[in-house]
Amino acid sequence: MRIKVKIEAVVNLEEGKTNINEITETIGNWSRQVGLDVCKGVIENYQEKIVDLLCDGKGESSWVPHKDKREDSEQLCPSDSFRRGGFRKKERVLKTPMGELRVKVRQIICKICDKRFEVLSPLLKMPKYSRATMKIKQMSTETVGELSYRRSDERIEGLAKIDIPKSTLHRWTTAGEWDVFTEWANSEDIWKSFTGIMADGTGYKRQKAKTTKGNLRIVMGVKDGCPKLVPLGVWADKSWEEIEKKISGDKPPGIKPDVLTVDGEKGQERLSNLTGNIQRCSWHVPHQLKYYLWKDGVPKNVGGEFIRQLLGIIKIEVPQEDYKEITDAMKEEIQENLKKSRGSVNELIAAFKGKGYEGASTYLENAAEHMFTVVDKWLEIGYMPPKTISILERTMREMGRRLKKIGASWKEKGVLAVANILLARIYTPEQWEKYWDKLLDIQGRCSISSYHIKCSVVP
Ligand SMILES: [Zn+2]
Repeated sequence: MRIKVKIEAVVNLEEGKTNINEITETIGNWSRQVGLDVCKGVIENYQEKIVDLLCDGKGESSWVPHKDKREDSEQLCPSDSFRRGGFRKKERVLKTPMGELRVKVRQIICKICDKRFEVLSPLLKMPKYSRATMKIKQMSTETVGELSYRRSDERIEGLAKIDIPKSTLHRWTTAGEWDVFTEWANSEDIWKSFTGIMADGTGYKRQKAKTTKGNLRIVMGVKDGCPKLVPLGVWADKSWEEIEKKISGDKPPGIKPDVLTVDGEKGQERLSNLTGNIQRCSWHVPHQLKYYLWKDGVPKNVGGEFIRQLLGIIKIEVPQEDYKEITDAMKEEIQENLKKSRGSVNELIAAFKGKGYEGASTYLENAAEHMFTVVDKWLEIGYMPPKTISILERTMREMGRRLKKIGASWKEKGVLAVANILLARIYTPEQWEKYWDKLLDIQGRCSISSYHIKCSVVP
């Protein structure tokens, strides 16, 4: 079907007075209105043409079935003979990225059972009572991923000149099946590409719960290439044990990435069931040790000296060259350094014990076991899994910032939705686009084949 659009307008200019800003502002605002008016015209003409075909008995009617008015049951009417009805009293209001679109709704009447019904919703492939187009839902979810509900509401009003209540934004956000964005990572190919796994958590304030302290936890697969991190899942108020069980159940069996990098949070080590080994984050260990020394009453300058010592000990450089080109002598040297470092850590622990630093010695003793795993791994396999979780921390900060700004009452579901949206948009933007492309179903079935504009001075 082809629909011809004719536009005629008169633009008034005050000669010698108007300027470029006035011209672009006026034409810009007008073109937005023209866009909406043309949409309205195209949709209403399309509707009329289809109604004509149906009423002339020339159209296929199985796509617009109606319930048989003569029957009490849900039975469909077998009739394909219709006549035109009037317009529905109320126009259909559609919220679109261009603004609010109002369309007249034609009714048709079944000649057999007298049922009055409409073709507009199936024609536009929209649910009958839906007011918002899919594009508006996409815009809204993307905005909610970044801003509070109140600010999102304002932003969308700025972009599309329509008002979407905060409660609606919340409903759309929590209704999404967002875990699809982590589920795709459970393929064998993706798991085989991991050199390690890392995990981190952040707090959030729970609403209407026994304790207000909520916990959001994230687990990532780490790859050598780009993207470096692949989200394996995000959980609210779940123990590391529960998280490990869930990942173990979902992941392809028999594949174990080399190293789990942890920040030392209690219970996180449970995730090492998913990997061969554990590496304590080499950024967190000195920081946490500083805290234990302070707790043990060690003066700041003395504690600082110990930290400097530890930083020197754990810093073992490995050559950046291709592993195959590294000589045995070089490997032996690194092996030697590793041995020395392990010895120095033990000396440090002994020194703490000798001075009665209970907390610090226990802490370092526990951490020591997993402080050099990646160097061991490098000697064994030739590449270095991550030794800090710093690449994840920026995301966690962003997550924390976003969750603090929450405007509506935050329950587990809302927190998870926003976290999943954020993760998907940061780490798997192409999956995010694909997800919406599928929902938008844009395939070029409406196009403009030609247009022609001629402007001339009115005599
Ligand atoms: Zn009927």
